[in-house]
Amino acid sequence: MDRGSLLLLLLLLPPLLPLTRALEETLMDSTTATAELGWTVGPMSGWEEVSGYDETMNTIRTYQVCNVFEVNQNNWLRTKYIRRRGAHRIHVEMKFSVRDCSSIPNVPGSCKETFNFYYYESDFDSATKTFPSWMENPWVKVDTIAADESFSQVDLGGRVMKINTEVRSFGPVSKSGFYLAFQDYGGCMSLIAVRVYYRKCPRIIQNGAIFQETLSGAESTSLVAARGNCIPNAEEVDVPIKLYCNGDGEWLVPIGRCLCKAGYESVENGTVCRDCPSGMFKANQGDDSCLHCPINSRTTSEGATNCVCRTGYYRSDSDPLQMPCTTIPSAPQNVISSVNETSLMLEWAPPRDSGGREDLVYNIICKSCGSGRGACTRCGDNVQFAPRQLGLMEPRVYISDLLAHTQYTFEIQAVNGVTDQSPYSPHFSSVNITTNQAAPSSVSIMHLVTRAIDSITLSWSQPDQPNGIILDYELLYYEKDLTEHNSSVAKSSTNTVLVPGLRAGTIYVFQVRARTVAGYGRYSGKMYFQTMTEAEYQSSFQEKLPLIIGSSAAGLVFLIALVVIIIVCSRRGFERADSEYTDKLQHYTSGHMTPGMKIYIDPFTYEDPNEAVREFAKEIDISCVKIEQVIGAGEFGEVCSGHLKLPGKREIFVAIKTLKSGYTEKQRRDFLSEASIMGQFDHPNVIHLEGVVTKSSPVMIITEFMENGSLDSFLRKNDGQFTVIQLVGMLRGIAAGMKYLADMNYVHRDLAARNILVNSNLVCKVSDFGLSRFLEDDTSDPTYTSALGGKIPIRWTAPEAIQYRKFTSASDVWSYGIVMWEVMSYGERPYWDMTNQDVINAIEQDYRLPPPMDCPNALHQLMLDCWQKDRNHRPKFGQNVNTLDKMIRNPNTLKAVAPLSSGVTLPLLDRTVPDYTSLSSVDEWLDAIKMAQYKESFANAGFTSFDVISQMSMEDILRVGVTLAGHQKKILNSLQVMRAQMNQIQSVEV
Ligand code: AMP
Repeated sequence: MDRGSLLLLLLLLPPLLPLTRALEETLMDSTTATAELGWTVGPMSGWEEVSGYDETMNTIRTYQVCNVFEVNQNNWLRTKYIRRRGAHRIHVEMKFSVRDCSSIPNVPGSCKETFNFYYYESDFDSATKTFPSWMENPWVKVDTIAADESFSQVDLGGRVMKINTEVRSFGPVSKSGFYLAFQDYGGCMSLIAVRVYYRKCPRIIQNGAIFQETLSGAESTSLVAARGNCIPNAEEVDVPIKLYCNGDGEWLVPIGRCLCKAGYESVENGTVCRDCPSGMFKANQGDDSCLHCPINSRTTSEGATNCVCRTGYYRSDSDPLQMPCTTIPSAPQNVISSVNETSLMLEWAPPRDSGGREDLVYNIICKSCGSGRGACTRCGDNVQFAPRQLGLMEPRVYISDLLAHTQYTFEIQAVNGVTDQSPYSPHFSSVNITTNQAAPSSVSIMHLVTRAIDSITLSWSQPDQPNGIILDYELLYYEKDLTEHNSSVAKSSTNTVLVPGLRAGTIYVFQVRARTVAGYGRYSGKMYFQTMTEAEYQSSFQEKLPLIIGSSAAGLVFLIALVVIIIVCSRRGFERADSEYTDKLQHYTSGHMTPGMKIYIDPFTYEDPNEAVREFAKEIDISCVKIEQVIGAGEFGEVCSGHLKLPGKREIFVAIKTLKSGYTEKQRRDFLSEASIMGQFDHPNVIHLEGVVTKSSPVMIITEFMENGSLDSFLRKNDGQFTVIQLVGMLRGIAAGMKYLADMNYVHRDLAARNILVNSNLVCKVSDFGLSRFLEDDTSDPTYTSALGGKIPIRWTAPEAIQYRKFTSASDVWSYGIVMWEVMSYGERPYWDMTNQDVINAIEQDYRLPPPMDCPNALHQLMLDCWQKDRNHRPKFGQNVNTLDKMIRNPNTLKAVAPLSSGVTLPLLDRTVPDYTSLSSVDEWLDAIKMAQYKESFANAGFTSFDVISQMSMEDILRVGVTLAGHQKKILNSLQVMRAQMNQIQSVEV
């Protein structure tokens, strides 16, 4: 603020009271003189020094003059040199008495009652008797001083003194010192006392800041700005912190301020910030006083900014510091439970101690304990809580959708705003209940499997809550145009049924319900399906005929077969033998299916395949997906890795298959069909579907991430690196996954090492449920050979599937045998470079793949079992799992390995070890045994001819730098074969 505006401010504001009284610093005081003052007078006949008394009768030195009867008086009196001592403005207090001219008899008209007051500045004591001259210039006149009162009476004892006091000030002064002068020009007066001083603003604590002593300005209107510093333990809130010292030595206009810090309170009129005493705190900077610690808290030192909670007491993040510390509530009381079949009402009384808070809520923990034995586990997501499971405001909850005949433990936790702070789990009361038996829940959806002119085959998924073993299903059906009273009933022990005896081209209403020992569940909602019309039937019949019967002779056979099938069907109910529909129907029916067991539903049987995606695959919001890296190319687009973070779940690493843009509706359907299939499976050895993204672009299928990618390339990368037990462990996993799929009535059709994924724990999972390559006639991939009605991976496929598309779990077992061979040979191509036709012919002539190198006999035997020509003789996947489990338990059974020489005597199919005679160099031989990386080391060590290498010992092999055990074995074995071949040649020559 400039001086002008500050003055304006001073004028505009109400009169400012000074904050303090001014300090006066005396420069000279005539009353304190103990000897003569010895001031200079001129002329000598004028002022005269006289001793006298002041009002309190102290002796003082005064000057008097009284030449009233003489004219032209000009009497000067000059003080001694007075040092300025830094003052800018000088104040002079004069005490004097003046005689009233009229009281003096016969006084001439020249009698005066005033005197003049001057000053003269000088840097040193330069005055003499005649200098400065006794005249107005060089002296500076301050004022003509008149008496307020003059005395006029004389009493007997002398004059009654009427003393006047006048103060005059002048400035600015700048030289080192000055003189004062008093000029009388014809009066009668006495100068009793002269005090010379300056003013300053004293040291002051104002607004929490210290301002040092400051000299006032040169003019009475001057304002001298002074900066203040915060007192200890205070901090500035407004800056700058300023005060103005006015010309009278008074502080004015405070600006800015300091306030005591947190932990300190202002005392002694704001001049001290004192630390809060023990047991008290102050949370913030400010003028407030310290407060006593709230209940259940204490301070740890003086000057506390907060009070810490006592042990066992807490503050929630939103609790103010002045609020008492609180604790967790005690357990809810008096829990009452009432079970009704598979639901339950729980009620309880609030805890005895709420912990001192008002935000008490309840959480319910549900543990299911099976039939009572063994440990309890947390209940799954399907148990329903009303109004909710967590954060219940009222002391009651309704729990439904529990399993029947199951023991549960419910813990009712009392929770409040500080539960999270406590290291202990919340107090709870628990209650054990056992649910009663209950009928199964209703079936949610039915699917049309096939329809004919007079029948409809339907399937449905098992109820979400079977509440026991489903004994059978009951299907109620009637023509849509009739009423329920005309309904018929069909029963099925599986979740599929063929409803015969229907009218052509008629819409029927169907409802299904499941039965357990507890009785029937509720019927499903009504679903409508129509039988074929006559016309539809004719056209479908004509379409199928040429596919199945190539000639009229075969047609006859077919008709006979059809009759047989119908007979078999009517005898066995729905457990049908092979028929023209088997290929399609096998997905739904099974002769030896556990009643109520879930089976796989082909998404293509849905009239709207999008419905299948909705039913079997969870829709994921794209915002939960983070794509990070492209890891491969899938059939429909890139395969990426990334992360998936679903609300309330841990972030997980996932694989993301994308559908490239520009797809047709059919491609989208085919792409998503894999998710509809995968989504029906839940097994540790089957790739797990996390969900799909269909509501945004690109469309994605998200699965668990398998760090080691596909099994074939993984084995090739790690050739010879695993123990037999590790390999058998992988095979066991694949067999377990396939058993699960077979039990679900799912036929894979493309089981091969390339379609097995491996995770970081070497767990193998069956994947690749895409159906499209079997359906489309695209010949770009040579692995899949076009066949009538689809493409077939010849080398992996059972002969009956190649010949007449008989794909069954037994044909999957054949493929499994090939996968075993791929695994044991570390990713070798089955049948090496033979053509597909050669493979088909060889198999037809009962040739089979020989054991891969180092393959235990037991495993090769299992492969051969899987490759039985008659599919009924092949082991089931369950048997394969058991066989492999036995091997793992008894590793001795894996010791016996086929002698290598047998490789030489199996000329047709044993290509595991090359015939060295067909090779021209050691380099070629190393290429042939896939050990090309050692070419240079062999050459450097002089192993350059077959004769030399055939003599190599284990030490030699080590010496050329083959340190991997698998590679050592491979080379040793190949050398062994080479030696055997050499011997054979020699014996032939002999
Ligand atoms: P697919 O279209 O299923 O044949 O996938 C193409 C390639 O992507 C596979 O050969 C794997 O290398 C890779 N891949 C597919 N799914 C996964 C997964 N879940 N985890 C890791 N890699 C995968």
